[in-house]
Amino acid sequence: MDAEIDGELEDRIRRFRREAVDPFVAGWEAARTMAPVEVYRKAGKAGLLSICVPVEHGGLGLSFGAKTRAFDIVSETAMGTAFSLINTHNIAERFAEGGSAEQRERWLPGLMDGSIIGCTAITEPGVGSDATAMTTTATKVADGLRIDGAKAWITNAPIADVVVAYVQTEPGSGAAGIAGILVDTGRPGVECAAAEAMVGGHGIGAGTFVFDGYLAEPGDVLSPAGEGFKTLISGINGARTYVASMCCAMVRASLAIALDYGGERRAFGSAIVDFQGLRWSLAEVANQLTAGQALVANAIDAIEHGAPRDAVLPAAHAKKFATQMAEPAIASCIQAMGAAGLRDDYPLARHLAAARIASFTDGSTEMMTERIARTLPTDYPLP
Ligand SMILES: Cc1cc2nc3c(=O)[nH]c(=O)nc-3n(C[C@H](O)[C@H](O)[C@H](O)COP(=O)(O)OP(=O)(O)OC[C@H]3O[C@@H](n4cnc5c(N)ncnc54)[C@H](O)[C@@H]3O)c2cc1C
Repeated sequence: MDAEIDGELEDRIRRFRREAVDPFVAGWEAARTMAPVEVYRKAGKAGLLSICVPVEHGGLGLSFGAKTRAFDIVSETAMGTAFSLINTHNIAERFAEGGSAEQRERWLPGLMDGSIIGCTAITEPGVGSDATAMTTTATKVADGLRIDGAKAWITNAPIADVVVAYVQTEPGSGAAGIAGILVDTGRPGVECAAAEAMVGGHGIGAGTFVFDGYLAEPGDVLSPAGEGFKTLISGINGARTYVASMCCAMVRASLAIALDYGGERRAFGSAIVDFQGLRWSLAEVANQLTAGQALVANAIDAIEHGAPRDAVLPAAHAKKFATQMAEPAIASCIQAMGAAGLRDDYPLARHLAAARIASFTDGSTEMMTERIARTLPTDYPLP
C-alpha cells in the first residue's frame, strides 16, 4: 500500500473542496443542513470515498496515512463535511475487508461513487462511553435476527442507506454478546429521526435510528458475537487518530489565515502580526500544533506498522492532546484577527465549534485519559 497521496490525487481533492465545498459550507451551517447529496458524488469522483479500498475491489489501495491526509484537506475548511465523508468511506472499507462477495457487489460501487451512504452505529440514547452496556438487541427468530432498540448520535444517519450496527445478542453478557450487523435502511423496521441541531456540527448529520422489529438475515451478520466488540475497538483507534489529525488540520489552517490577515491588517503604524504579544501567541499555537502533529504521526505509524493492540495508546495520546490543543489554539488565532476572525466567510469560528465536538466523537477526552491511566505502572517502570 502507498503511504502517501500523490500530487495528482491531492490536486483532485483540493479542487473538489474549492469548487464543491468552500463556497457553500457557511451556507449549509447557517441553514443547519448537511452538504447536499451531489457533494458526496463529487467526493466519490475525486477519489475521496475509495482511498483505502483495495485496488482489486475498485479502490485506490492507499494506506491509512493517505486517508488521514486526504480528509485533513477537507477539514481545513469543513471538518463536519470531512467527518461525514470519512464515516461513509469507513463502510466501504469495511465491506471490502470483511463483506461477502454478494455484499461487496451490492454496496461497494455505490459507497465508492457516493451514491450510497454508510454509517456505523454504536452509541445509544442511554449508552455512550460504556459501549459494552448497549441495550439494542438482536434476537434469534425463525428467519434471522430481530433487532429492537435505538442508536443515537450516529453520523450520516439522516442520509444513510446502509448501517453497520453493533447490537447485543445476549443481554447481560457485555462485550461477549456484541455483534456487528448490516442494516439496510430501505427495509421495514428501521426509522431515522431528524439529525441533532448542533452549532458548528450540522455538516456531520448526527441522528437517531429507532429499530422496531427490523429483520436481519443470517448473511447480514458481519461480525458474530465474540468478534463484534473486537472489530468495533480495532476500528476506533483509526478513528481517534484521524479525528486528532483533523484537529491539527483545523489549527494549521487557522494559523495560516491569522498570519495572512495579521500581515495585512495595520494598527498603531505597523502590521498587527509584528506586535510581540500576537507573534508570541501565534508562536505558541505553532509549538502546540507541532507537538500534536508528532503524536498523530506516531499513531499513524502504530496503525500502519504495529499489531492492532499497539495502536491503542498512541491513538489515545494523539486524540487527547490534539482535541485539547485545538480549542485554545483556534481561539488564539481568532483573537489575533480581532472581530474579523468571527466572520463566517472565515472557517475559524466553525473550527472552534468542531474542535469542541471532536472532544466527544469516537471516545471522549476522559476516556482517552482513562485509557492512558490504565497502563501507567507498566508503561513507566522504575528506571
Ligand atoms: C457529532 C457527533 C458524531 C457522532 N458520531 C457517532 C457515530 O457515527 N456512531 C456512534 O456510535 N456514535 C457517535 N457519536 C457518539 C460519541 O461516540 C459519544 O458522544 C461518546 O462516546 C460519548 O458518549 P456520550 O456523549 O453519551 O457521553 P457519556 O458517556 O454520557 O459521558 C458524559 C460525560 O461523562 C464522562 N465520563 C463517562 N464515563 C466516565 C468515567 N469512567 N470517568 C470519567 N468521566 C467519564 C464522559 O467523558 C463525558 O464527559 C457521535 C457524537 C457526536 C457528538
